[in-house]
Amino acid sequence: MNTTDQPGTPGRTDSPIHIRGLQKRFGALEVLKGVDLTVARGEVVVVMGPSGSGKTTLIRCMNLLEEPDAGTVAVCGCSVECGDRARRRERARQVREIRHRTAMVFQQFNLFPHLTALGNVAEGPLSVRRMPRADAEALARRLLDRVGLADKAAEYPARLSGGQKQRVAIARALAMEPEVVLFDEPTSALDPELHAEVLQVMRELARDGMTMVVVTHEVEFAREVSDRVVFMDGGVVLEEGPPREFLSRPAHPRAQAFLRLVA
Ligand code: ADP
Repeated sequence: MNTTDQPGTPGRTDSPIHIRGLQKRFGALEVLKGVDLTVARGEVVVVMGPSGSGKTTLIRCMNLLEEPDAGTVAVCGCSVECGDRARRRERARQVREIRHRTAMVFQQFNLFPHLTALGNVAEGPLSVRRMPRADAEALARRLLDRVGLADKAAEYPARLSGGQKQRVAIARALAMEPEVVLFDEPTSALDPELHAEVLQVMRELARDGMTMVVVTHEVEFAREVSDRVVFMDGGVVLEEGPPREFLSRPAHPRAQAFLRLVA
């Protein structure tokens, strides 16, 4: 693990994700109350916590799908001081930069229904990376092969199982060649028997050294694959630690109560 900050360069860090004092509210509801989180290159961090504790909002703030109210979000070397409305134009450039370097995998897959599996994976390389079609499709085929779906390239999402759709979504995320992949409860919309195939793809991605932040209640995945578990409750990080320690001996009573429910 490498969490070395570069001294003298405010907001810049060797760590792909470096968040300080993150605050976010929706109207009167204060959802994030000052979250600090650093993720090292190649690290796999699992974020757990009760429903409504702010996990999804936290990872959506990492790629600025949600605009935080205050704090610093430094992702892949691009640092954003949140809540500074005077720097809107600069912000648009930073948001583009961060979105290029991160990819997100959603609970509900979010595939384009009118495109085949191949078309879904090739879409980002074609329209965002401006790759020639032959190259984008060759990349898409390699990635579909990597997630075990080489034979489904021509299928539309409606003819794929939930697990297959989520694997296409992971291939689509990888097609942008991100430095970080953010997963928002990637198995929670799937029937239990389909979890394993998605978790296996994620396990291989972790083994290949991808930096990953995963919101999930998959305790076995956290135990086997993650480097660290972060436990959120009430908009703050209550506890964090190596999975073996946190999952077998959580210190905080609320983490203990939560793990009794999910483990
Ligand atoms: P978790 O992922 O831990 O379940 P979320 O980050 O999804 O928690 O949500 C935290 C709280 O913020 C919840 O009370 C949720 O209803 C609320 N919330 C999330 N997104 C929005 C939104 N776009 N508008 C209003 N409230 C929201």
